[in-house]
Amino acid sequence: QREKKRKQGANLLELAANFYRERRVMPEGRAARRYLEQRGLSAEVIDTYGIGYAPDSWEALKRHLDERGVSEAVQIEYGLLIHREDSGRTYDRFRDRVMFPIRDGRGRTVAFGGRVLGDAKPKYLNSPETPVFHKGRELYGLYEARRAPKRPEQLVIVEGYMDVVALAQFGVRNAVATLGTATTEEHLKRLFRLVSRVVFCFDGDRAGRQAARRALETALPQMLDGREARFLFLPEGDDPDDLVRREGAQAFTDRVTCAMPLSEFLFEQAAEGRDLQAVEGRERFASDVLAAVNKMPDGMLQSMLLEELAERSGLRQTQLETLLARQQARSE
Ligand code: ATP
Ligand code: MN
Ligand code: MN
Ligand code: MN
Repeated sequence: QREKKRKQGANLLELAANFYRERRVMPEGRAARRYLEQRGLSAEVIDTYGIGYAPDSWEALKRHLDERGVSEAVQIEYGLLIHREDSGRTYDRFRDRVMFPIRDGRGRTVAFGGRVLGDAKPKYLNSPETPVFHKGRELYGLYEARRAPKRPEQLVIVEGYMDVVALAQFGVRNAVATLGTATTEEHLKRLFRLVSRVVFCFDGDRAGRQAARRALETALPQMLDGREARFLFLPEGDDPDDLVRREGAQAFTDRVTCAMPLSEFLFEQAAEGRDLQAVEGRERFASDVLAAVNKMPDGMLQSMLLEELAERSGLRQTQLETLLARQQARSE
């Protein structure tokens, strides 16, 4: 029963993805084609990512799916059709938007993100959580990155759909995007199964820097030996799309290569706003770093961070180990 429903859902999402792709090339998709062209996307990249267009209609997709025997209930369950309790009406969720299919690890479409062609709000609309779509699990572009001609050695985590496809347009095929949510533990587990290094590259704005701080917290428990996380901070006002367009692929990959190691970001965060000339400042600094180290799995990286902390704080490493053990005992 559940399996049957899942299949029907999967089938419906493929039907919808094909529908959106077809509409993009039809006369009604003209504005969408122009929009994609303005954003510098070639036919090849549009094809690789299966980008489509949801027509400006309240029921075009619904009719298309009705004709193919997909029940209204399933259309609602998979987030394509909205049902208004008050009026009892139903209507297509995605209208007059450029459509990005979100694919799971095996390339099956599990959800969509849709962007308006102009400045209307909301700029992006995503599928809701459904039986096959969990935002905290999927990463936009991961399937496509894995299918790139060159197997990626590291993956770059960016914020947006457009960042992923713009980078791909410039030949940078190893970017994936979280879907308008914070990076989760599950995201990182999936990525570290594929590569040993991830690079966080959020927008050069307040929200992006906040996202990086949260990503640091989420990454700490995942930092087993052999894994590496880095942080790439973009110039104020830039996102990866803006930057690669202005500076090109080489400049972007150079920045990725020079991205800040997690350890450095951690020390920088702990030092922020503190006077390390004063004992009190160093104490605050050390206890912040220690709290972070406490969240890491035991290993070499952890020990080496303690060693580095000893050097920077003036505390002896044995002392730090005692303090850490005490903290660990307390948090158990
Ligand atoms: P563009 O370059 O197309 O203007 P962007 O990708 O730079 O868009 P941001 O505002 O930086 O857009 O947002 C980054 C990502 O956050 C988007 O790609 C989208 O996944 C998500 N997002 C942004 N706004 C919304 C929204 N209103 N609702 C849901 N998700 C959103
Ligand atoms: Mn932003
Ligand atoms: Mn952005
Ligand atoms: Mn952008």
